[in-house]
Amino acid sequence: MKIQMVDLKGQYEKIKTEVDAGIQDCINNTAFINGPAVKEFQQDFEKYLNVKHVIPCANGTDALQIAMMALDLKPGDEVICPAFTYVATAEVIGLLGLVPVMVDVNEDTFDIQLDNLEQYLTPNTKAIVPVHLYGQSADMEKILEFAEKHNLFVIEDNAQAIGSDYTFSDGTVKKTGTIGHIGCTSFFPSKNLGCYGDGGALMTNDDEIALKIRMIANHGQEKKYHHKVLGCNSRLDTIQAAVLKVKLTRLDEYSAARNKMADYYDEHLAGISEITVPERAKNSTHVFHQYTLKVKNGKRNELQKYLAEKNIPSMVYYPLPLYKQEAFQQYVENGFSLPVTEKLCSEVISLPVHTEFDQQVLDYIISEIKNYFNS
Ligand SMILES: *Cc1c(COP(=O)(O)O)cnc(C)c1O
Repeated sequence: MKIQMVDLKGQYEKIKTEVDAGIQDCINNTAFINGPAVKEFQQDFEKYLNVKHVIPCANGTDALQIAMMALDLKPGDEVICPAFTYVATAEVIGLLGLVPVMVDVNEDTFDIQLDNLEQYLTPNTKAIVPVHLYGQSADMEKILEFAEKHNLFVIEDNAQAIGSDYTFSDGTVKKTGTIGHIGCTSFFPSKNLGCYGDGGALMTNDDEIALKIRMIANHGQEKKYHHKVLGCNSRLDTIQAAVLKVKLTRLDEYSAARNKMADYYDEHLAGISEITVPERAKNSTHVFHQYTLKVKNGKRNELQKYLAEKNIPSMVYYPLPLYKQEAFQQYVENGFSLPVTEKLCSEVISLPVHTEFDQQVLDYIISEIKNYFNS
């Protein structure tokens, strides 16, 4: 048996008729750019997320960049983000001449640590970017409180948690990505709502910000050939929108399938003393973009090697804190270190998780992990 980290083929086979028809329709109409499927998907997605505006764009990294441009952040402005995340989160901050201020995360839920954030504030701090890592929400209620108190914009990096629900203490439930000033997501094929190429989107409930985002994503154009600001060219292809339209109708079903897989892993792995199964955040549902274990006693790399020998794929997201990346040295003092981020980089390992539940495969993965730990 060939085990995959993400089984996109099995998923495609179940939606093939609809997806193929959607793609063929785009080709028949040669409506490759801004064809009808783009608007249709946008509206479907707005309804699904219960948000006023979705603005599709070319990929998740562009979404983050456009978000920061739309908030008029200026060179030298500081943006707080976790050090334990995908590079894109902080990369766009630096690209725009802003300063990424990398902070630590919580050891149990992997999200941005809020307790000691005040120490990072300066008169130049303008925004905070929580990342809903692995598929569950950061503590948005606390983040909003912090942001309001210090007059910061909140940009949610929701590339990994699309479909997840966050519940506020008053009982209000919101989809991740619709809680801050702007939410950003990615439709990279392996993401929970993935297309068949690159894609991304921004979401906001603010009419003015939405207008600005649309303008920036379209060459800063207010009306055709009249460019108000410098922008970029970032669009979602019609063919990708056609795929996403089909997959969006299954997103909740997909999240449930991922949860079923995660629950099965939990049930069979929780008893092994040298690993920690993922902790569920109190106020968020989990959509398990990744199923991520922590491995104690420095055995992570050895476990990964063992699994590879047994033809079981696994991934380490992420092996290096951002502040240890060469590209980010300009933002930190020599020897800068965040204890939880360091620890997680040496302990985390993500197992195959996707929408196609196959008990035989799961049992094999579980039995090999048990073999490795002799338990
Ligand atoms: C995937 C991802 C992105 C970037 O998305 P792309 O579509 O690949 O540009 C940004 N942030 C996080 C946390 C991601 O996982």
